[in-house]
Amino acid sequence: MGSRRSFIEKVTVSAIGVPLIFNSSKLFAAVEEPYDGPVLRVAIMGLGSYGSRVAKAMLECKKAKLVGVISGTPSKIKDWQSKYSIPKKNCYNYENFDAIKNNDDIDAVYIITPNGLHCDQTLRVAKAGKHVICEKPMGINAEEGQKMVDACKAANVKLLIGYRMHYEPKTMALIKMRENGEFGKPKFFQGQSGFVIGDPTQWRLNKELAGGGAMMDIGIYSINGARYILGEEPIWVTAQETKTDPVKFKEGVDETIQFQMGFASGAVANCLSSYNIGNLDRFFMSGSEGWLEMKPSTGYGPIKGRTHKGELTQPHYTHQALQMDGMAELIFDGKQPLVPLDGEEGVKDMKIIDAIFKATKTGGKVELSL
Ligand code: NAD
Repeated sequence: MGSRRSFIEKVTVSAIGVPLIFNSSKLFAAVEEPYDGPVLRVAIMGLGSYGSRVAKAMLECKKAKLVGVISGTPSKIKDWQSKYSIPKKNCYNYENFDAIKNNDDIDAVYIITPNGLHCDQTLRVAKAGKHVICEKPMGINAEEGQKMVDACKAANVKLLIGYRMHYEPKTMALIKMRENGEFGKPKFFQGQSGFVIGDPTQWRLNKELAGGGAMMDIGIYSINGARYILGEEPIWVTAQETKTDPVKFKEGVDETIQFQMGFASGAVANCLSSYNIGNLDRFFMSGSEGWLEMKPSTGYGPIKGRTHKGELTQPHYTHQALQMDGMAELIFDGKQPLVPLDGEEGVKDMKIIDAIFKATKTGGKVELSL
């Protein structure tokens, strides 16, 4: 990795004039302002639908910039090169990307490939000495997640998980309200996360590449949301699986799972994860002194929220732009978001998913120690 000074000199000129949308010192000031601090130079691995969304969002960033790509499809690389002015020397494929080790123009690799590939790819990126940003779910089970955490620690690089909601303004406002005691003692969380999935041949319905079904992809939002809304870790789970289409949702690919979580304080959560029920994007929390509701709660936004005190009015900004500017601040200045999004945070969700899958089989309560 090049020294901070050398890359500041290389990239800040191009960062000047980029619209400022997120500045923690002036909360969300949407003004044009020159920026001459460090810029996180990112290569995206996996140029699919979410990778494309992140790349577009990064045009709004002032602290992060797309400078490289890793893809198995030469035509996509060519297209992205011209769209984002990416030099040939910053383009890699899945066979040769270990050579990124010798590329001083890239600080971090954002892995946006199918879930089943994340672990191995993270290990390779860490070995190449680059910071890793990895999409959720971080892997396909907690064992993989821990391997990723250990590898990044050993390589002295950061491992951050793409939990974009951890930078979303209304979500943060509600977490602050809870921290300030405005809901009293949190008692109940309800999370509904789901949509009707299409094409039966896609990787999301392939156990090896997805690690499961709806739970890995969308149910994880209710798990993560229960934790950041209640501000506590679950100590047990129970879960029940329903499968109406075993042809589309094969063995190990969950269609619909209802799950419950219990917390040491006595709070409880009741959640639904589905690939076959639409319009599920809602969080509700009831505390001893008030309540909150978010609907939509985790989509690309605008997020909507209300509480016993009224509607939330925080402005909407592109989630992925806030996330990438926030991650740059975290990497350069150690500035943590309100809710962490490091590898350890990702492992907690993976442990809960492992326990939920176990509970669907045993029918009983599975204890958790996070
Ligand atoms: P996608 O299918 O649109 O893109 C996946 C990319 O990986 C494609 O470009 C594909 O060519 C590439 N790829 C590399 N090796 C592959 C292989 N062996 N099989 C299939 N594809 C391969 O998927 P996506 O929607 O972009 O999802 C990618 C990751 O991003 C997943 O982990 C997903 O959970 C995550 N995601 C996160 C969010 C979010 O809001 N944080 C939203 C969507 C997806």
